[in-house]
Order: sequence, then C-alpha cells, then structure tokens
Amino acid sequence: MTRAGTPSGRASGLALSLALLSGLPAACSAIPSVQAPPRPAPASGPAQIDIVHQSVELDPFGADGTLTGLQTLTFVVTGAGDRLQFDTGALEVASAELDGQPVPALHTDDAGTGFQLPNALQVGTEHALTVAYSVDQPRGVQRSADRVYTGYFACDWMVCRQSDFADRFTMDLALVVPSGMTTLGPGSQVDRTSQGPDRERHLWRTAEPFPAYVHAFAAGRLHGMPLPGDCPVKLDVWAPEGVATTEPVFAETCDMLRFFEGRAGVAFPAPHYAQLFIPDRNEAQEAVSHSILGGSSVLAVREDPTEDWAVAHELAHQWWGNRITARDLTQFWLNEGVVTFMVAAWKEHRWGRDAYDREIGLARTRWEGCRERWQDVPLTFAGPWPSLGVRRCFQYSKASVFLDVLRQTMGEDAFWLGIRTYTRDNLGRSVTSEDFERAMQARTPTDLSPLFDSWVYGSAEALVPSA
Ligand SMILES: [Zn+2]
Repeated sequence: MTRAGTPSGRASGLALSLALLSGLPAACSAIPSVQAPPRPAPASGPAQIDIVHQSVELDPFGADGTLTGLQTLTFVVTGAGDRLQFDTGALEVASAELDGQPVPALHTDDAGTGFQLPNALQVGTEHALTVAYSVDQPRGVQRSADRVYTGYFACDWMVCRQSDFADRFTMDLALVVPSGMTTLGPGSQVDRTSQGPDRERHLWRTAEPFPAYVHAFAAGRLHGMPLPGDCPVKLDVWAPEGVATTEPVFAETCDMLRFFEGRAGVAFPAPHYAQLFIPDRNEAQEAVSHSILGGSSVLAVREDPTEDWAVAHELAHQWWGNRITARDLTQFWLNEGVVTFMVAAWKEHRWGRDAYDREIGLARTRWEGCRERWQDVPLTFAGPWPSLGVRRCFQYSKASVFLDVLRQTMGEDAFWLGIRTYTRDNLGRSVTSEDFERAMQARTPTDLSPLFDSWVYGSAEALVPSA
C-alpha cells in the first residue's frame, strides 16, 4: 500500500482535483454562460450527524436481567438525510421522538438501529432524539445480582456510534441502582438522590467531550480507598466487599502518573481517577474517569514486581487514547501502540533499562510471530484482519517496536520533545499518523519520512526487515 493509498494519504486533495478534472465535459464551450441555480440534492438516506451531547438514564438491574434506558441525544446535521443510523447493538426500542415528534425505529439488530424521519434534516440544524429502550444481553456489560460494569461496547447500552472515534460528546449519565451501591461513571458524580425506599439515582457528568467507546460505568456493593500519599490527583481504588484494595501494584499509581505527566508535557487532565479491582476477572480496560482491572491482569505483581503493565497501560490512556484519539481504526496504533510503548518507558524509569529492553523484545516477538504466521502490514493497514489477536500484534506490538526505532533514530532529547509536542498539540483532538509524524519531524533535522513510509503507511518496497 502506498502512502497516497491510505485513508489519510497526503495526496487525497490532488486525487480529488484530478477526479474533478476528469469529470469535466469534453467541450467546455458547450456550457451555457448562465446556468440555472442548482437544485437541492435529494436528501433521502442516512443523515450525517455530529453528536454533541448525550443524556442517558439507565436502570442496569431491571427485571430478568434486562437493562432499560431513556436517552436524549443532541446532534448537529453535517450531511442532509431523512434517516438516522446508529451502529448500536440489539436495543429493543420502546418509543422514539425527534424534536418531540414520534419516529419509527427501522430495525434493531446486530446491523444497528435506525430511525425513519418524516422530513430530511438540513445541514447545520440541531435536533434532539429521545429513545426509550431495553437491552437483554448487552455485549461488554458484566452483571451479577449485586454488581455491574461495562467496557468498550458503550453502544450496546445506549444509542451511539461505536466505530466513530472522531465524534466526541459530553455526557450526563444517571444510574438508578439499589440503595447503598457505589457507582463509577464518566466525569464527576454531581448528584445523588433517593428514589423511594430502596433505590438511588446517581448522576455523572463530563465537562469534556469524549468518543463513545470510552464511556463506561460500574455499580455495585463496593468499598473504596483513596491511595495514600501526596498526589495532585485524587486516586481511588475500589473493589467488591471483602476484597482488599491494598494490592502493591496500585501503590505505584501516583509515581506512574507523575512519570507520564513528564513525558506528555501535560498535567494529568482530570481532578480524579478511579481503579476498580475485580480479582476474579481478567479485564484491563480504560474508561473516561476510571479503569477496570481484573486479577489476572494485575496480580502477577505479587510474584514479580516488574509485572505492573496493566495499571500503567490504562492510566496512560488518560492522555493517549481518551483525549488524543485515533481518528478511526486504521490509526488505532496511536492509541494502543503509543500506550504500549509508554509502559516500556515507565518500566525503564522504574525498573531499569533491562526491563525496557525486555518489554520491547516481547513486543517484537509478538509482532514477528504474527508476521510469520500471516504477513507483515503497515501500522495503518485498513484490514481485513484475520483476528483481533493479529490486529493487536501490529497496532500494539509492532507500533511499540516502531517507537523504539524512532527513539533510536531521533536521539533521546529530540524524541521526547517530539512526544511532548504531539501530546500538547493534540489533546482533545482526533488524530492521524500525519499529526504524529509532523510533531516528531518538527524536532529533528533527520528526514523521518522513509521510516514512516516503511513502518506506518507502507511503501512500495518490501516492508520492514525482521532484524
Ligand atoms: Zn489499551
């Protein structure tokens, strides 16, 4: 794949110009000097929208294990159309209204949820879609009688667009739960009210907009403890009742946070951060204001203190991933590869150079294994991927090796200056590989384009050699 062939290729403007030129009529003199005003384009089909705000009220402990929700989604139209389409999971829509008028749901299955509108929506107008729904078996929602938590598949419990990483919205998330439960959600808990004798409503609110996939929540019979020490950010660890929150791996959180602040050149971008420790699970998943950490991801630290990757990885996503977000899945190495590399950098800082080399070596082994079993592809490969595991070999592991090569090429000072430039310039933005390359190139006289062509975009020549 050539660079111009990638979705974010630099030549796209030129390609567009050429396409326009080739579409010109052969005899331009045949065009009348005065043309009729263009008719508005027919606007049947899906409207393009930018979601601005979501207000979601959820009961995650409904009868028969059903989750029920009532949501109002505010959006601006960026492309006219008479249909709204969401790549949401199998929601059972009870009713829907657009700006107060009922609209029928088109289908609610794995292909998504759509709404047919009576009229086309025009570009630039703002609207509110209100949907009442229930979900039977939402993906990514782990539930028991006294605990629920979610990760990644946010559009299985609300109407949104999971794959649209570039669409960020602010959020009000109200969780109605049995009295006495603790909840974790996006942003800050701004309200807690009683709803009858045995129910409570906890309202969480974000001030910053985030993409859909990092919105998550947890609720349950939990107990929590602020981490001791003088940290500029309030750090809590939560766990189910009866489970200790004093695992040694969490004690390092503030040191990790300070290390990442130094590398990012940006202070931790929130006043608090929570970690939910669930010893009998294996998740390691970031969310807007908390992370879920399963036992099999963090308990190896008991045997080997250097196995602290999971806490570092999810914490690093607070900068790279949550706030500097890959524009789409082809750029996902900017979330996961950068964070995987940052874990290696933390290990170098905490445990010494050997620990860094071991981490990069592990990444190289994973990547090379997939390359041998399948093929080598550039970091912006658009798919199809044979499996999630293979995608991770590239977007996590190969990307981490690439960043190590870039560090060696640029030298220590220039490389970390580049990382700081990239982070400061792009906080709160959706990014592409070109944004990253531009920031790094600005800090070195060495021409980085051959390296980016080879590793990131894919050149016409053979891909990266194995040595
Ligand atoms: Zn990650």
